[in-house]
Amino acid sequence: MPKLSDRVGTFTDSVIRRMTRISNEYGAINLSQGFPDFDPPKEMLDALAKAAYDGPHQYSVTFGAKNFRDALAKKVSKTIKRTINPDTELCITCGGTEAMMAAMMTICNPGDKVMVFSPFYENYGADTILSGADPIYIPLVPPEYDFDITLIEGGFRKGAKAIIICNPSNPCGKVFTREELSEIGELALKYDAFVVTDEVYEHLVYAPNVHTAVASLPGMFEHTITCSSLSKTYSITGWRLGYLCGPDWVIEGARKVHDFLTVGAAAPLQEAAVVGLNFGDEYYTKLLETYTQKRNYFLEGLDRIGLKHNVPQGTYFVMLDISDFLRLDQFREMSDLEFCEWMIKNIGVAAVPGSSFFREPVNNLIRLHFARQQSTLEEALKRLEKMADLLK
Ligand code: GLN
Repeated sequence: MPKLSDRVGTFTDSVIRRMTRISNEYGAINLSQGFPDFDPPKEMLDALAKAAYDGPHQYSVTFGAKNFRDALAKKVSKTIKRTINPDTELCITCGGTEAMMAAMMTICNPGDKVMVFSPFYENYGADTILSGADPIYIPLVPPEYDFDITLIEGGFRKGAKAIIICNPSNPCGKVFTREELSEIGELALKYDAFVVTDEVYEHLVYAPNVHTAVASLPGMFEHTITCSSLSKTYSITGWRLGYLCGPDWVIEGARKVHDFLTVGAAAPLQEAAVVGLNFGDEYYTKLLETYTQKRNYFLEGLDRIGLKHNVPQGTYFVMLDISDFLRLDQFREMSDLEFCEWMIKNIGVAAVPGSSFFREPVNNLIRLHFARQQSTLEEALKRLEKMADLLK
């Protein structure tokens, strides 16, 4: 038989997305893969209906429709605190996933080193492999998910070309402070390296934490590739709209990669999303209020039923500590993946095993998300309470 490439043997399918498939198979409440179960804003749905009849239905400009880039540039200019040129400093992609992949393909040669925090969103593992880069893992240490800046300097000394920062961070909910990002940024400048950011949860940052875009820090725009998406901000994960923002010479390279990866993001969906990009600040305030309520409700529920968890500063994820379960005879010797499979089948709630995010041999954490309607969260808590009863 002919052989597949060596590269496909070096990583597995996404465990996050696999858990969704298993959850669907058993009809569980899916708190594994992070996506909302509520509708996008009505204005965007109306615009989508209009686009169905009025178009566009053919390719947009490969790096993004002009009206989409113009609207996005205005929004991103506020976050990055500088005027972004829609014609040279943005590239629209098929979701944040393609944005990250294109960023890595644009800056990495095979054998280049790239620093990745652990725990990390699993795509970065595949992104480094597919771009030929060798990851250097920097631990984010639970329960506070702190890191040691000297390890980052060590990585740059070893010649790391870039560091990937997910901020707010999936899966641990860490929001990097301005001071932390400034320290990392100064090192990136000192060692002439890139910072690649994944800021898809930029609007889900809970008070008193605040989101700082790395590219907004002094001198950092030229060294930063900001990747983000519309998925979480407008509850449209299936629309697959993401983007890269960076200096023109980097974006010129990224546009070439993107052109041959996917040609372009879906034209009618870009058209419909322009309405969302033009929303005023009150939209983002309301979105954060909604998620703050969900977070409080879900975390208070977990406290009430006695399940140990972290308190996310951002994102819609929460890590449960299942150590107490793993001490019971019933679960002894179980991996976190087996525990999650047991949960789907016996409790009717799907989670993601923590081991799919950690480089270190962590087996006692699982990730849940709360991007769900109140009634879904209520039912999920009822089911989790049955699980908590096992500890009594
Ligand atoms: N970011 C989401 C998660 O971690 C899922 C994104 C995806 O599956 N593309 O669950």
